[in-house]
Amino acid sequence: MTVIEVRNLRKAYGDTVAVRDVSFTVEAGEIFGILGPNGAGKTTTVECISGLRAADGGTIRVLGRDPGDRSLRNDVGVQLQESGLPDKLTVREALDLYSSFYAEPADWRALTRELGLGEKLKTSYAKLSGGQKQRLSIALALIGSPKIAILDELTTGLDPQARRDTWDLIEGVRASGVTIVLVTHFMEEAERLCDRLAVIDRGQVVALDTPAGLIAGMDTEQRIRFRPSAPIDDALLRARPEVREVHRHGSQIEVVGTGNLLHAVTSVLAVNEIIAADLRIEQASLDDAFVQLTGRSVKE
Ligand code: ADP
Repeated sequence: MTVIEVRNLRKAYGDTVAVRDVSFTVEAGEIFGILGPNGAGKTTTVECISGLRAADGGTIRVLGRDPGDRSLRNDVGVQLQESGLPDKLTVREALDLYSSFYAEPADWRALTRELGLGEKLKTSYAKLSGGQKQRLSIALALIGSPKIAILDELTTGLDPQARRDTWDLIEGVRASGVTIVLVTHFMEEAERLCDRLAVIDRGQVVALDTPAGLIAGMDTEQRIRFRPSAPIDDALLRARPEVREVHRHGSQIEVVGTGNLLHAVTSVLAVNEIIAADLRIEQASLDDAFVQLTGRSVKE
């Protein structure tokens, strides 16, 4: 079931065309990623979906309704980059305030427990760490028990451990049946969390696929290195169509190729009863896919 439909979205700020032509659909229960470098138009896209900005062109339907439809407020939770909460507001007060916006708010006690904020209820916003602020903003996006949660740059500014914890949390939210739209410029985050993603560059969708599909669609080289447990003839490896080159570095063999190279190499080894020690694989990543799609790194 389609819950969000974006068709030929266009949005400009004066002379700056932030979103040129963006189309995609989000299905119920998925984590849909919007990936792209800074300035690509990601935030503008989700602000239009959230009803916070009016599009200049195209159509958006959220649960079959116009994004400006007030009845969507109970169905869509939004976490924006800047929460704009007053410094002196405590966690408890913020949760109470946001709960009051909704007809059927979630149990904030359970929510704060899950988010590890149970001990911080009396702490003012200014005294929270970056990770705690982030978790509070997620709690506020979820407090209305939304059907759809829109999360923008969820883990920016978090340390690697806090980032991983947040990912676990998002997987838990999805498991509870919430559809999630996740804006990110972190490849690892997109690869780990998203069922499908739209890669956006300069206001346009340049690819739309699963992370694995995006990577598999690239004609990028892979390298496999290992030490064989017994001598093996290079020709046996070269005979496989996936294998382009075989190099020797002392006792180590390096195989360069494309497609399902790992399967090709391991099956040759298995047939010849050879075990690969110190096996290392250099595979294409989503980052490589992005570079191939846009000619630029997402970090630029
Ligand atoms: P992203 O989220 O991918 O970083 P944004 O949607 O924030 O991209 O921005 C897309 C483009 O629109 C950028 O060039 C940005 O500078 C511009 N932009 C974003 N918000 C505004 C605004 N409120 N006024 C003017 N220009 C804006």
